[in-house]
Formats: sequence, structure tokens, C-alpha cells
Amino acid sequence: MLYFKYRSTNCFFLRSSLNGQLLAIDAGWPGTLYEYARGMKTIGCNLDNIAWAFVTHFHMDHAGLISEFVTRGVKCFVFEHQLGAIDAMEKTIEKNDKGYRLIDKTKLHVIKIQESREMLEEVGIRGQVVVTAYHSSDSISFITEQGEAIVGDLPLEAQMMPDDHRLREAWDEIRKSGGRTIYPSHAASFELVASYPR
Ligand SMILES: [Zn+2]
Repeated sequence: MLYFKYRSTNCFFLRSSLNGQLLAIDAGWPGTLYEYARGMKTIGCNLDNIAWAFVTHFHMDHAGLISEFVTRGVKCFVFEHQLGAIDAMEKTIEKNDKGYRLIDKTKLHVIKIQESREMLEEVGIRGQVVVTAYHSSDSISFITEQGEAIVGDLPLEAQMMPDDHRLREAWDEIRKSGGRTIYPSHAASFELVASYPR
């Protein structure tokens, strides 16, 4: 897995075993394509290497460039339960940026969570997507076969209140799916303890 950080957000990439092209997980801030491209250079890649993308959730620091990815011909996946979150994000972006161009939703590839493993395998990427709808109702996490878990803005277990069952369920789901090294969007990666002290 590759990643770089810009403007406080980590952007992640997985390389296809079929053709070496990249799957981007999360897609930066709106209107920052050049800055994002500079970030890609730091990991030895460029924009043309991105063939596929999906986002952990539709907030503007994670999906701001999806519109431009679609325009550039990147195959952008969206999970069924994420569709409803796009409009709210774009309304917020448009308030501050009149030049923002809306995502052409007809070009998004809508998939079910249960189909994610199969769909990713078809493009040479091994791992699975799980719903961790805590930070937002559309939030997901991606876990590679090596146990790397990209968890978006899921709050850390260490900050969990004892009665927060929803957050505990989300972390249980990540453990159950083999997540061991956790990659948050706005913090450094860390090793997950085998089980949360209850
Ligand atoms: Zn965020």
C-alpha cells in the first residue's frame, strides 16, 4: 500500500497485481488536483496511474476530487449506501467554490458491499470493504489481505466511551475482517491490540 498526506488528509493507493495501475482510496479536497498530483509524485506515481477509486465517505476532505477523477476517466465505485451522501457534500462545496463541477453520477459504478471483494479481485486487488458507519452513515473501511485497514474518520478505540456500542461494533468488525495495522485518514498508522480490554 502507498499513501501520502496533504492538507491533513491521507490519500491511499493499492496497486493492481494485473496491470500495476492504482486504486485510490479517498480522493482529496475539491479544487486541489495539482496539489494532489504533487503528492503522487512523492510516492513515485502520477495521476495517469489511477485507474479506479472509491472513498471512505463523501466528505469534502475525502471525496473532493471524485468529480475530476470521473472526468479524467477514472472508474469510480460508489457503494449503494453512499449514494445519498453525495448531494450534501456537493452543496457544502458549492457554497465556498462557485467553480466546482458536480460529479456526473451517471458515470459512477454503483456496487453492493457484498460484491466488493469479487469486484476488486477482478481488477487485481485483494481485500474487502466493510461498513463502519459511525463518523457518517456512508462510512466504510477497507481491509487488505495483509491486514492493513484504511478506516477513514472512524474515532479511535482509545477515545471510546464504555457504553458506545456502535463504535465498539465498528472496531469488532475491523478485527473480525483481519484488520491489524490501522491507517486513519488524519493520524499516523498504528497496530491494533488483539482485543479491546472490556
Ligand atoms: Zn476527514
